[in-house]
Amino acid sequence: MPAHRSNHLLNSMFAAVALLGGSALAVPTSGTAPATSATSLPSAAAFDALFKRLDIGDLLALSAAEQLKVVKQLEQLLPPGDAHRARLLDTQRCGLDFINVNQKGYEFADAHLAAALAAHDDAASIRFYYCRGGYLESIKTPNDALADFERGIELARSSGDDAMLAVGMEARGGMYSVLGIYGKALADLLEAQRIFSAQELDEASSQTLQDIGITYRRLGYPDKAREYLNQAIDHEKRVGDTVSLYISTIQLGYVDQEAGHYDAALATQKHALELATTTGDRASVASANLALASVLTDLHRYAEAESALQKAADGFSAVGDHVDAGMLAYERGRALAGAKEPHRALAEFAAAEKAFNATGNRRYQQILYRAQAQTLEALDQPAAALTAYKNFVAAHDAVAKERANQQAQMLREQFDTDRAKMENLRLRSEQAAKDRQVEALQGVRRWQQVAMGLLAILLCLLSLLAIRQLARLRNWKRMASVDALTGVANLRGVQNFANSALRRARAQDEPLAVLTIDIDEFKSVNDAHGHPAGDRVLREVARTCADALRDGDLLGRIGGEEFLAVLPRTLIDHAVDVAERLRRRVETLEFPGLPGSLRVSISIGVAQALPHDRDIGALIERADAALYRAKAMGRNRVVSAETAE
Ligand code: GH3
Ligand code: MG
Ligand code: MG
Repeated sequence: MPAHRSNHLLNSMFAAVALLGGSALAVPTSGTAPATSATSLPSAAAFDALFKRLDIGDLLALSAAEQLKVVKQLEQLLPPGDAHRARLLDTQRCGLDFINVNQKGYEFADAHLAAALAAHDDAASIRFYYCRGGYLESIKTPNDALADFERGIELARSSGDDAMLAVGMEARGGMYSVLGIYGKALADLLEAQRIFSAQELDEASSQTLQDIGITYRRLGYPDKAREYLNQAIDHEKRVGDTVSLYISTIQLGYVDQEAGHYDAALATQKHALELATTTGDRASVASANLALASVLTDLHRYAEAESALQKAADGFSAVGDHVDAGMLAYERGRALAGAKEPHRALAEFAAAEKAFNATGNRRYQQILYRAQAQTLEALDQPAAALTAYKNFVAAHDAVAKERANQQAQMLREQFDTDRAKMENLRLRSEQAAKDRQVEALQGVRRWQQVAMGLLAILLCLLSLLAIRQLARLRNWKRMASVDALTGVANLRGVQNFANSALRRARAQDEPLAVLTIDIDEFKSVNDAHGHPAGDRVLREVARTCADALRDGDLLGRIGGEEFLAVLPRTLIDHAVDVAERLRRRVETLEFPGLPGSLRVSISIGVAQALPHDRDIGALIERADAALYRAKAMGRNRVVSAETAE
């Protein structure tokens, strides 16, 4: 993928700058391409899966040639008319088709980026930004490249593509590192690494680990550099990325060398040379020889150093690489100086100085001036030696100052990053607390709802109970006012009715009459036919009398075989008529099932409410008195209280 390719380019640049050897473009040859199938049918799902492997997955470790084979496979899988996937395929071509033709690569990226942006294809636009940035770094300035990486990063961030965000930050971090802005470089690289490892993107991760290691080395943190380079080496061994493994190894050798561990450095650089030979890349082999020569000189093995340098020079000239000429001259000078050939050494140093001044690399100037001064001193040229020392001190101060600045900047970046992380952590925990609060409230609300529900059920049950209670109460009331045997009102019932009838009659100024009814010779019915037969007679008489009354009248049983009838709005004469009707009906009553001879009669006393009646009792007393007279007059008759006196 483009950013990866461009990063690969950056990594190679690191190696090249660090060693002043090696080619700007190391071509990977390791890894295994997935078996090419000539019969691959177009399939969006298969395309996406393979694309992801090539874009950010395990196929990153393949050589460019093998990756191009994967691009061919992707072409076969591309569904016809799928513009988005066609663009994604072009993002891969962008990184692979123009490896040694940067201007053409830039033009391809630029045109395709414009089209992707016009189509609002974020995924493709991000990758084309990174691709164009990679080429811009070669054909324009690192700052131009930086601008593209930044646009890509912004787009990746806004579209929520974490993997591409990390790819962009890795590219930008690498660029910052090239520009010597190590603090920012580390902040980017560490964040990219965090995302890669969170997403388990091992191949992308190993690239970043290497970048972090290199940046730490350049920043003067050998322990950190060793830690990250070793992690990168572990990754690279696992995925079989020999090119990256070679770069990480040579960098590790440099860390050892700078720390004065020359024996360890020698072993490491010998191993780097083996790895470079495995890759088959001549420029890489030349770079490894250059690195090896430097350590051999430190170990005072000048003849071996010169031999390694000769191999390096041959290799570089074979591939037409002049980038490392300055470093080659410097190392040659050191080896010659060690071999007691100061004049030849000074000539080489002069060549190196020219090359270093052209690039303005203070670090290289610093080491060169020191070597120059030492050689001039040995040649007993104090004035020239003093000038070289002065130059060395100036370069040394500049490098030290720059490094201090960078370290301060790194700490600042780290502080900012940590602060941002703390802020994020705080916001997250605040959000979590809020969520918990909402959850608790929802819990309370749920319980409230449950309680409300239960309450509603309870209320329903209660009202049901209340209704039943009320019904039962009414029943009780009815039972309390109804005579169980006859079904007519009992004493209390008829008394209540009579009382209110009297009140109403007085209030409305209406007449009110009562009848007191007593069954004649009832004792003899019981005696002759038994108590149950007597009960039946009682029921029949009560029912007959109740039926003979009008609506609004009420009959009640007030004693064993005594009844009271209350007749509202009834004048006494009319009441006498009603009583007479009752008497006649009872007189003719027959009792089927009982002996045919059985006949009963009733005697009735009639009275009318008078203004001076204290209460209903007074009225009933007068009716009773009339009844008594009816009995006395021979029974089965109606006597009016008014006519009786
Ligand atoms: P009188 O014509 O003077 O009223 O004579 P009587 O026999 O009807 O009067 P008495 O008061 O002497 O007798 C009433 C009888 O009514 C006595 C009792 O055995 C009977 N009696 C009262 N209550 C009931 C009852 O609920 N069922 C039955 N079968 N008999 C009852
Ligand atoms: Mg009686
Ligand atoms: Mg009687």
